[in-house]
Amino acid sequence: MKAAALTAPGRVETIRIPTPGYGRHDVLVRMTAVGLCGTDLAVVGGARPAPRLPWVLGHEGIGEIAAVGSAVRHLFEGETVAIEPNYCCGRCAQCAAGFTSGCTKRVAVGLDTPGVLAEYVSVPAEFVHAATREVDPRDLVCAEPLAVARTAVHRSGVRAGETSLVVGAGSQGLLVCLCLIDAGITPYVREPHEGRRALAVSLGAVPAEVTSGAPGEGSDTGAPPADHVFETAGVAEAAAWALRHAAPGGTVTFIGMSGAPLELTAHELVRRQLSLKGSLIYDHPRDFAETVALIEKGTLAPHRVLRAEFGLADAAAAFDAVGSTPGKCWINLAGTGGTG
Ligand SMILES: [Zn+2]
Ligand SMILES: [Zn+2]
Repeated sequence: MKAAALTAPGRVETIRIPTPGYGRHDVLVRMTAVGLCGTDLAVVGGARPAPRLPWVLGHEGIGEIAAVGSAVRHLFEGETVAIEPNYCCGRCAQCAAGFTSGCTKRVAVGLDTPGVLAEYVSVPAEFVHAATREVDPRDLVCAEPLAVARTAVHRSGVRAGETSLVVGAGSQGLLVCLCLIDAGITPYVREPHEGRRALAVSLGAVPAEVTSGAPGEGSDTGAPPADHVFETAGVAEAAAWALRHAAPGGTVTFIGMSGAPLELTAHELVRRQLSLKGSLIYDHPRDFAETVALIEKGTLAPHRVLRAEFGLADAAAAFDAVGSTPGKCWINLAGTGGTG
């Protein structure tokens, strides 16, 4: 079968590998679509080194069940499914408490175990979520990043009537905007890239105007200080901006993972009574299952963040486009492929 793999540092190629076997508790999924994100780029670029080469990429995948392990009772051949690509151990103290995102033995697909950018993938049945056949595959392919966004919004505790600000309008920022709008909250969005900002605004976010006030005036936004700030960009400048624009008593939820220290003294944290939260992925299985159910409802329509479609043969071009394309790049394995 064909798969898209990292074959040398920075080099993505479509290769041929054996179709995987599957165990009693697994299902074999014929992949139909895979979304790409910054995490995949980090593997390609070497910031998150692949365990070996060639390394099959991708973690945001959907497909149809091609075969079912003999011990699997709740899934059937032909079903449409989304893959939850973080396999928690189910036995550690964090897992026992339902805090599986904190699992110390978690296996991340595409990082610790080979990815899903292949014609067939074997997946533990516990991490496969069936969806109705009627669901638009372009919506379902957003299930994984939407689960990240939705869980962060849920964990933040934001409520209708509170002011919210999303920093960064990459695909994660756009999905956070959609989750807030779906909850009846119109977010401000701060994004210096014009195309990404325009996309966020087209989805219903309000631009936090960046005006170039006189040096030292510090008035770089038309948005009011926010009760809830969501940092999605993962760069130091955005994290600093997020902290500056929280209202007194506000909560800053970090999804982006900048490697730089935060610019905040304990004095300032206490005086402004801020709460800082880090939100990593989602907790198994509820957060992912609820996200798939939300997609099935059809109101949130996350396909609106998809912009560039590629075929499996064009995987290298797809990865090249991830950093520069406003909205999300995805690979359609269902047949026709795309123009990119
Ligand atoms: Zn991702
Ligand atoms: Zn665990």
